[in-house]
Amino acid sequence: MSQPEGSAASPLAIRAIDVIRKKRDGRELSRQEIEYLVRAYTGGDIPDYQVSAWLMAVILRGLSKAETSWLTDAMLRSGDVLDLSEFVAKKVDKHSTGGVGDKTSLILAPLAAAGGLIVPMISGRGLAHTGGTLDKLESIPGFNVNLSVFQFRGVLEACGCAMIGQTAEIAPADRKLYALRDVTATVESPYLICASIMSKKLAEGIDGLVLDVKTGSGAFMKEEKDAAFLAELMVETGERMGKSVVALITDMDQPLGLKIGNSLEVMESIEILRGHGPADLRDLCLELGAWMFYLGAKATSPSEGKVLATHLLESRQALEKFRRMVSLQGGDQAIVDDPGLLSQARHTLEVVSPASGFVSAIACEAVGTAGVILGGGRERKEDSVDPSVGIVLHRKVGDKVSSGGPLYTVHYNDETRAARAADLLGNSFQIAATPPVVRPLVHRVIRGSGGA
Ligand code: URA
Repeated sequence: MSQPEGSAASPLAIRAIDVIRKKRDGRELSRQEIEYLVRAYTGGDIPDYQVSAWLMAVILRGLSKAETSWLTDAMLRSGDVLDLSEFVAKKVDKHSTGGVGDKTSLILAPLAAAGGLIVPMISGRGLAHTGGTLDKLESIPGFNVNLSVFQFRGVLEACGCAMIGQTAEIAPADRKLYALRDVTATVESPYLICASIMSKKLAEGIDGLVLDVKTGSGAFMKEEKDAAFLAELMVETGERMGKSVVALITDMDQPLGLKIGNSLEVMESIEILRGHGPADLRDLCLELGAWMFYLGAKATSPSEGKVLATHLLESRQALEKFRRMVSLQGGDQAIVDDPGLLSQARHTLEVVSPASGFVSAIACEAVGTAGVILGGGRERKEDSVDPSVGIVLHRKVGDKVSSGGPLYTVHYNDETRAARAADLLGNSFQIAATPPVVRPLVHRVIRGSGGA
C-alpha cells in the first residue's frame, strides 16, 4: 500500500519504492525518507536500479530547499568529517561544477599551498561529458588518489596540499551516487549537484571554499540564470554550515585551455605551472586563486590575492609544490620535467577547417562527449579509463582560420571509437566571416545571501 498524500512514513516502515513513487508524483520527501535512502544505498541495501529511478524522479521533479539540505546533510554524515584544527593556516578549497578541459584543480591546489594555505582537496571522477580530477591525476604513473585519512593528513602536513577521492571514510554516499549518476543521465540537477559537491567539501574540515560554477554549452547549467541558482544554493548551504563561500560563475561555452583528455590535461597543467600555457586557463587559475587567498586571509582583497597568485606561478613555487605532492602521493615526479613520459595515444588525426574565417562557436558538450567516447571517460560504471586519448584544439572561439588550416587533433587508440568521436566532432566548429563577440571568462561573483 502506498503512502497517502502529505504523510511521512514512520522510519521503520520506509520502503525505497514508496520514496521513488512519492518523488515521481512531485511530493516533498521527509528528512527520514531521504536519510533512509542515502543510508540504505551507501550500506548496499538498495539496488542501483531503484536509486537510478529515484535520481531520475529528482531530475524531473526537483527538490525543495529543505530536501536539498537534508540530502546534503545525509550524504555528509555517510562518513567522517575531518578535523584539521591542528593546522594553524586556513584550510581553503575550490571546486568546479564540471567542465570540458577544466584542469584548474591540478594547478590551484599546489598554487594555494605555495601561498601558505592548507588545501585538503576531495575530488570526483569524470561525470557525463565532463572530465574528473581523479582520472587526470591517475594518468600520472603511480599517483595514489586512494589515501587513508592518516596518509592524507601526512601529505597535508608535508606539503600543504593533498588530492584524493571520496573514500569509505569520507563522503562514501557521494562516491556511489556520483558513479551511478554518471551513467544514468541524472547529473543535471542543481539539487543533486549541490548535495554532491557540498557533502564532499563540508567533510573536508575547511574554513573557506571557492566554487567555480560553469555556464554555457559545455556546462551542466547551460543558462546563466540556472548557474546563478545553483551558485546561490551552494553558497547558502556552505554558510549555513559556518564556512566562508564564494561562487564565480565562469564561462564553459568552449573548452578551457587547448587540451582535453586525462594525460593531455596533466601536460597542460604543467605548462601553466611552468609559466606558459593558454591564456584563458592561466587567467581563470589566477582569478580563482585570488579568491582562495582572500578567503584564507592571505590577501586583504581579491586583487591583492591575484598579485600573490601571479608571483607564485611566475616564481615556479607552485610547480615545486606540485612536484612534491606528486612524489608524496606515490607518483612519478619525473613527469614534471618531462611530461612526454605521460602515456600517449598511438594515433593522431588532424582535422582542418573547410573554410576561411573566424571560429564563431565550438560545441563544447560534443567535444567533451567525444573525449568520453574515445575512452577518456566512462559509458558504463565498470568501464576503465584510457589516460592517453583526447583532443587538442588548435583554434578557439574568435581565432582566425584559413581554409585547410588545422582546427583540432584527435588522439586515439581504437579505430571504432575514433570513428564515433569523429562523427560527433564533425560539426563542432562553426566558422563565420566576421569575428564573434567573445564571452568574458568570469560572468559574475556570488557571495553571501545571494548578493552579487
Ligand atoms: N562535481 C561534483 O562533485 N558533483 C556534481 O554533481 C557535479 C560536479
